[in-house]
Amino acid sequence: MTKKLFLLLIMLAGLSFAHAQQLPARWDELVASDWGRALKLSDSTCILPIGVLEKHGPHAPMGTDLIRVREYAARATKKEYAVVFPDYFYGQINEARHQPGAFALPERVVWDLLEATCDEIARNGFKKILIVNGHGGNPELLHYFMQTRLEKRRNYAVFLYEPRIDDPDFDKKFAQLSKGDLTKGDHAGEMETSEVLYVRPELVKLDSAKNESGVKQNRLSLPNIYTPIWWYAGYPNHYDGDGSKSTKELGKLEVDHVVTGIAEALRIIKADQQTLKLQKEFFDRVKEQ
Ligand SMILES: [Zn+2]
Repeated sequence: MTKKLFLLLIMLAGLSFAHAQQLPARWDELVASDWGRALKLSDSTCILPIGVLEKHGPHAPMGTDLIRVREYAARATKKEYAVVFPDYFYGQINEARHQPGAFALPERVVWDLLEATCDEIARNGFKKILIVNGHGGNPELLHYFMQTRLEKRRNYAVFLYEPRIDDPDFDKKFAQLSKGDLTKGDHAGEMETSEVLYVRPELVKLDSAKNESGVKQNRLSLPNIYTPIWWYAGYPNHYDGDGSKSTKELGKLEVDHVVTGIAEALRIIKADQQTLKLQKEFFDRVKEQ
């Protein structure tokens, strides 16, 4: 054995040791003796990926939303460490109850579970919780949840990932790869299916994607008025777009893009000292009155 080869072997052994010492990001894969190290490395930051169980056209899995956000979290935490809370399927999904596979808990259970989950995450030492949502029926719930965090004092802060990324370079690449219309919505359509095709190809039945229509059905027209039946009116098949146009390449482009954004959000949140300080100041003042 040459001296060079020997040194190389030592280096490789060192690398694999360092790898073995790497902390899992997933809460459910951590051991208790590593908890303190996980809190330190994450700057007491935990990601809560949220999805639902709902039909995704005739071809994509029920868990599509959570599969996507969990994959984002898994990849983002390799770039910037944080702990990732286990599978959380319990968002708002009443609009899919006429279809097989929908799991819609009663409204107050959904609310209490989300609140209790955040409280329990914090009780375990986390000061910052980043919610990453994968389901289009959740934002109303999540925005109200966020605003009501000011209702009573808590010793932790909740953040919601809401990317407003202006990235012409990404848009250009996306337009080159996409066969559909960028401006339209997408539920189990080209974009969402592409992501699952990229991260879990074995779960997509692309041959079935044409078995139902994902074209909007104009069954209701109430300009400037919101009604919760809007989604059912337009998309009773729980399908918006055309999943048959999906490709792994488009999925990779989108997933990489989102992962970069989440890793950046984690860096910002971990470094942020101001939110908790202002929260404390706010509640101190509320108490005075
Ligand atoms: Zn979805």
